Amino acid sequence: MRSLLVIGNWKLNGNKNTITNLTIALVNAFYNISKCSVAIAPPVMYLDVVKRYLLNSHIQLCAQNVDIHLSGAFTGDISAEMLQDLNTRYALIGHSERRIHHKENDADIAKKFFILKKVGLIPILCIGENKKEYDSGYTQSVCINQIKAIIKLLGIEAFKNSVIAYEPIWAIGSGVSASPENVQLVHKSIRDYIASYDASIADNITIQYGGSVTPENVIQFFDQKDIDGVLVGAASLNANSFSMIVQTAEKHKKPYPD
Ligand code: PEP
Repeated sequence: MRSLLVIGNWKLNGNKNTITNLTIALVNAFYNISKCSVAIAPPVMYLDVVKRYLLNSHIQLCAQNVDIHLSGAFTGDISAEMLQDLNTRYALIGHSERRIHHKENDADIAKKFFILKKVGLIPILCIGENKKEYDSGYTQSVCINQIKAIIKLLGIEAFKNSVIAYEPIWAIGSGVSASPENVQLVHKSIRDYIASYDASIADNITIQYGGSVTPENVIQFFDQKDIDGVLVGAASLNANSFSMIVQTAEKHKKPYPD
């Protein structure tokens, strides 16, 4: 049975002061959260600052990226072992902003997936189609191909204790979310595809939705059977908005019995 997972992606925002204040506000707001899982992804240089406030809290740390190497002459990169050293639990990989601005391809992302699993971190594999692909009806094939790249390198077992975040690129930061019913269809197709390899992995994998999620629209996503949580950008930078999203997850009737 899957419970809801809510992750806040702070991207390249904030400074030491604002990030500290936001973290403290969330720790206070979530002191009684027990049913859903929550993580925050601050800019990497603040992971250690944030970590200190998360001791004894229910909030987990998430990185926004990871390098494919564990150490060596790779100036500017961050290794999975360094993230683990800071008690980071999750790492985003394949976010569309990295695919677009840093030209990361499916093969690079599969290597990142591998290194995270090797070190024991949980990959959040971000997938999703652009507007042209959406308009042409290619959403499901784009998503499946992005998943296939992982299976090709690592096998279906890699998806045990991993997370997929379906994020249509056109919905990210646009203020226009995908319709919950369409997201449900995409999530179901992803789960069915994984089930064609392994039914138990498919049943257990968490599939989040991301793209202009707000406190107002989030419940409609949670109401869909195959949506197991949300990856939140802009709304996670505001303590009140993110708290409302997490409180909605906490009160929701999920996990559904099978
Ligand atoms: C994201 O960047 O992962 C995201 C979902 O952003 P937003 O919520 O701002 O659309």
